[in-house]
Amino acid sequence: MGSNRSVSSPVAKPACVYLLHFVDGSHYIGVTSIGVSNRLRRHLAGYGSTWVYRKALLVGPPEVGAVEWWPSMSSALNAERRHKRHRAKLYSKCEVCRRLKYGEGEQSVS
Ligand SMILES: [Zn+2]
Repeated sequence: MGSNRSVSSPVAKPACVYLLHFVDGSHYIGVTSIGVSNRLRRHLAGYGSTWVYRKALLVGPPEVGAVEWWPSMSSALNAERRHKRHRAKLYSKCEVCRRLKYGEGEQSVS
């Protein structure tokens, strides 16, 4: 919500921190500058985290739960480090989790 414009380096490309949500409820936090859908495609093709690749083979491809853009890769990496220290905070922003939490009515047979 604040003014987050730091145009320090002319070659700084924006990058984003993204959160992947798997069907079994596990999450993965990563950083990319090529866009989350491109990154995800690479993950699924085996050109990324082995963990994500194996997980996707086991439980199916993940959904993107959250994306947070930063003005440069270094600021995105800093944010990723913070998020990994306080995972629960980012997980609480996961749209897939929210959808499951508030949108699921089938189980509530009262
Ligand atoms: Zn989630």
